[in-house]
Amino acid sequence: MSKTKFQEYDVVICGAGPAGLKMACELQKRAAEAYKILILDKKPPWQEPIFCAEAVSADRLSALWPIQEYWIRQRLSGIYFTSPSRDRAEFYSKDCGLILNRALFHKEMADTASSMGVETNFNSLCLNVESSSDGRWILKIKCLDEVFELKTKIIVDATGPGAKISKGVPELAGMEAGDADLESAIFAVVEGVEHSPEHIELFFGSKFPGGYGWLFPRDGKEVNLGFVLGRHQGKKDSSRKQLMDFIEEYFPAAKVKAIYGGMIACGQSKKPIAKNGFFKIGDAASCVNPISRSGIVEAILNADIMAPIVLEWLSSNSPEKCREIERRALDAWMKSLGESHLQLANGKGIFSQISDKQFNRATKRLSRLSREKTTLLRIFIAVLFSTPSLIWKLRSFIR
Ligand SMILES: Cc1cc2nc3c(=O)[nH]c(=O)nc-3n(C[C@H](O)[C@H](O)[C@H](O)COP(=O)(O)OP(=O)(O)OC[C@H]3O[C@@H](n4cnc5c(N)ncnc54)[C@H](O)[C@@H]3O)c2cc1C
Repeated sequence: MSKTKFQEYDVVICGAGPAGLKMACELQKRAAEAYKILILDKKPPWQEPIFCAEAVSADRLSALWPIQEYWIRQRLSGIYFTSPSRDRAEFYSKDCGLILNRALFHKEMADTASSMGVETNFNSLCLNVESSSDGRWILKIKCLDEVFELKTKIIVDATGPGAKISKGVPELAGMEAGDADLESAIFAVVEGVEHSPEHIELFFGSKFPGGYGWLFPRDGKEVNLGFVLGRHQGKKDSSRKQLMDFIEEYFPAAKVKAIYGGMIACGQSKKPIAKNGFFKIGDAASCVNPISRSGIVEAILNADIMAPIVLEWLSSNSPEKCREIERRALDAWMKSLGESHLQLANGKGIFSQISDKQFNRATKRLSRLSREKTTLLRIFIAVLFSTPSLIWKLRSFIR
């Protein structure tokens, strides 16, 4: 990319995670090279480490991107639900998910975007954005110690959780900030843990207030052990200490190779996600499932839904029409997953009221069932029957 002042684009996508990369491919595919599109990131999207447990639903991902064996670490056929007393209920399904190698997946997405004609620059940090007098956006970019500026009609903010580039910009006040119910998650890559490579294991109870712990297989030898905790849970110790305590107690033979952490925006708001030609997608728009905390497929789906709306905005030449299109962006997301995320977010606090005793009782009840009979509905019902007060509290949530 040349460093002349004000190189101009129709769309600049900031952030090359799954949301930004899908947006780049989708815009180019639908617009058949009619527009000049740039995707930039401060680092190559395939650069390790990627702070993620990398679990996705195979069905939902394959509806949005063709699955390739070479970027799958592991196909999953079961989930163990483990109570504080360490009783396990097993949910079995031939296809209950995949563990990705996100670095390889991102590389394929980035290569696809580039081969379709999207300009890429994975060495550029966006420092800030401001509106210009002609109604376009100016981005200040730092690339290899040089600072320069770009001009564009549309910015797609795919920079992940938190308002990294829109903060303090007067024209964007009131927009979703990618911080709805921001929770911290931490995990360790470890060796020496006996596990079934086809199962993930989820841990519940007061050790993981407002969230859950996990064991996700990686490649047969290594596993990913971690947890996410609710935002409102008071913490006695640092996340790192809590993680080490969890590993020591549950997997004393584990050898920790590395520890990573990050933030997850686990809520759903109704704040605008598009304003004045500035669109937010993926985690930057708080699209994560509030209960499972999965955000990969959600980010890709969100980009898929927003791409035609971005193109409609570009082909429209009246400001009134543009404002109407921007309002429709949030409506489109709410109709697809946003409304159900809102309900899940409202019901989230209720789950953190389940006591260890109630989890133990539910899991014991389920562990007596045969594997084939343990459906997700039965798990849900078992938890409800162990916690009768929940049924009343959940009435609006399950309506
Ligand atoms: C510990 C942890 C475990 C998780 N596990 C799972 C899981 O198992 N399954 C699941 O579905 N989800 C999981 N998630 C959530 C998932 O990682 C996110 O929802 C998903 O990555 C969102 O994709 P995105 O493209 O919106 O943002 P991101 O993947 O965060 O991508 C944002 C990109 O923007 C770039 N960027 C940021 N700021 C700038 C800037 N100023 N200039 C230029 N570039 C910038 C970053 O380098 C990054 O590449 C986990 C999250 C965490 C923190």
